Parts: sequence; C-alpha cells; structure tokens
Amino acid sequence: MLKRQKVIKIKNSKLREIRLNLRKILMNYFYDQESMLQALWLGAKGDEEISLLRKLEDFRQNYHDSILVCGICSKLDGDRVFIPSHKCWYCTDCLKKSLIPSLRKLKNIDS
Ligand SMILES: [Zn+2]
Repeated sequence: MLKRQKVIKIKNSKLREIRLNLRKILMNYFYDQESMLQALWLGAKGDEEISLLRKLEDFRQNYHDSILVCGICSKLDGDRVFIPSHKCWYCTDCLKKSLIPSLRKLKNIDS
C-alpha cells in the first residue's frame, strides 16, 4: 500500500485507451467473481454463510478501494489520485471539483 499521496496521469490518448480497456477487462472479471461468490453465499448455511458473506463484503470493498474505479463517482476511465489516509483511489475530476473530503495538500495536479 502506498504511503504518500500519488497522482497517476497518462497524456497519450492511445495509452489512455489501453488503460481503459484493461480496466474494463478487470471490471468484468470482478463482476464474474462477485456473482460466483454471491451464488455460493446464497446456497450456504450457518458458519459457512457468515464466512462467505464476510468474503463477499471484503471483495466488494477491495474493488471499491482499487485503482479501477473512483471511490466517489465510480467512474472507470480517467487519471487517478491515491489518498493514503483514505486508502482509496479517486479520479482527478473529483479532486478538481473538491469532492474528496478532507484534502488540503493536493492543489496542483497538473504539474
Ligand atoms: Zn470520481
């Protein structure tokens, strides 16, 4: 896990397109795995049901906190900023719109 605030920007349009396509592939993989886990959970009983529910919740949280989607708007494309205290990635559009709570250090992301 990163310990410092970090902005990841790609300016080249071809590379941006490749990045978006990779994110789409990973998102589809996530939804496939989530569906499989949910089916297992719905068929389980007792301790196994609780264990699978925790696994499903962790899985969803890890996806939400990952670089694939913005932690606020859930947008798949675009540049990202990582906020260590939040342990989450956000899109730079949400940063520019000041939608990320409790941020003061990252003012100039265009440099
Ligand atoms: Zn966003």
